[in-house]
Amino acid sequence: MIKLDKERLYLDLKNTYMQKHKKSKEFFKHANQFLVYGGSHNLRLNDPFPFYDVRCQGPLVTTVDGDSYIDFWQGHFANILGHNPLFIREALQEFLQNGEGFVTGFPGQYQTQLAELISRQTGAEKIRFTTSGTLAAMYSIMLAKSYTQRELILKIGGGWHGAQPYTLKGMPNLSKELEFMESTGLSNHSDSSIIMTRFNDPEDLEDKFRLYGDRLACLIIEPFMGAGGFIFSQKDYLHKARELTHQYGVQLIFDEVVSGFRFHAGGLQSLYGINPDLSLFGKTIGGGMPVSAVAGRRDLLELCNPKISYPSKVNFNGGTFSAHPASMFAGTVYLQYLIENAESLYPQIGRLGNKARIEIERIFRHYGFPVTCSGLDTDIISESSMVGVHFLHEKIDRITSPEQVWNTNTCDPEMREKIFKLAMINENVNISHGFGGVSSVHSDKHIQASLDAVERIARSFLRYKI
Ligand code: PLP
Repeated sequence: MIKLDKERLYLDLKNTYMQKHKKSKEFFKHANQFLVYGGSHNLRLNDPFPFYDVRCQGPLVTTVDGDSYIDFWQGHFANILGHNPLFIREALQEFLQNGEGFVTGFPGQYQTQLAELISRQTGAEKIRFTTSGTLAAMYSIMLAKSYTQRELILKIGGGWHGAQPYTLKGMPNLSKELEFMESTGLSNHSDSSIIMTRFNDPEDLEDKFRLYGDRLACLIIEPFMGAGGFIFSQKDYLHKARELTHQYGVQLIFDEVVSGFRFHAGGLQSLYGINPDLSLFGKTIGGGMPVSAVAGRRDLLELCNPKISYPSKVNFNGGTFSAHPASMFAGTVYLQYLIENAESLYPQIGRLGNKARIEIERIFRHYGFPVTCSGLDTDIISESSMVGVHFLHEKIDRITSPEQVWNTNTCDPEMREKIFKLAMINENVNISHGFGGVSSVHSDKHIQASLDAVERIARSFLRYKI
């Protein structure tokens, strides 16, 4: 890659950002007095300080400073139909008008409807709802541990399953290899009970099963890696995972919090022809409201049935706000829409995603920056709305593992996560992990405006050549 004076480049980008976001800076200062680093989710708290939104609508986010941005972050990729869709707003307004929508403490009718939809689209035998992907991941691992009566968890380097105690190891980060603990405050056994394996590496997988197979409770894996770099599992690899988990009696958990209902109106698992034992859904299934689900085999989920007693019982239980009526209702209306419009919706966002990937690569390469875009694997799917951008140090055609994405010898994660991100914000485009998720409210015009911004940025980077 062309060598850049990244320090000077970042400083200039930061200065432009600070000039443009004076009110956000004041907000940040104020927020910092009460909130840890001015907020409650680290991904929302970008350097040098986040911009504070006042309105999000369709493809756009508008800030306290009065600027609007084309947004490809779209609520952590939950908003596949854009911010604040009118039909959900109207449905919820009517719902509230009817005196429904707040927590009741009763089971209500809507969670059955949402469960039925998810079950029909994914083949899950049973479902239990909770409020976040994090909790769903935690409970699924508890179910697997209880079912197998085993201790160890096999996790993918670069996998993100929320900040819960069972998987806080080897998460994507700018500073280390993807195999170390990423949090303190956990049990002393956490480190030794989480075994790491490399994504899309069948030999490493076989090695880990040979070494630990009969002590593993589960393998938890994203069939499409989100934070790890927008990478699809290779078909053979995922089938190997299914084969080995069967062979060793290990529960296979697919974390489909990002991939569920993102590439078609169901789980990615069906495109691979694999039935995991448990699946996690979140983000898209809530229609913008907090919902997640653990879905899968009846006998596993029945371990949290209140009629089961200790020692078999798994306390996947509680949650004052679990299966919240407004979330269940919004999720049902949203999923119904995705199912009814699947034939036009997914090709539309997939086509725009493909265009963004091809053009971003072409533009950067034209200016001498070897960039590759991830988010598509034509063995699985012909179009994809997820777009990752990677600045390469080594000559590679295709990104296949988070180790490449986060290894500073192979890629430049700082260019992606810090410099390009800030440069795009300064061009009024909000991106995540190199670009983000195209939603149905993004048009050709939004994609073209973003590509024009990429072109200006690539050209401007040349001024920092050393
Ligand atoms: N699993 C995956 C693959 C995710 O990407 C995320 C969040 O981004 C989670 C789990 C955690 O979900 P939540 O943020 O809803 O707790």
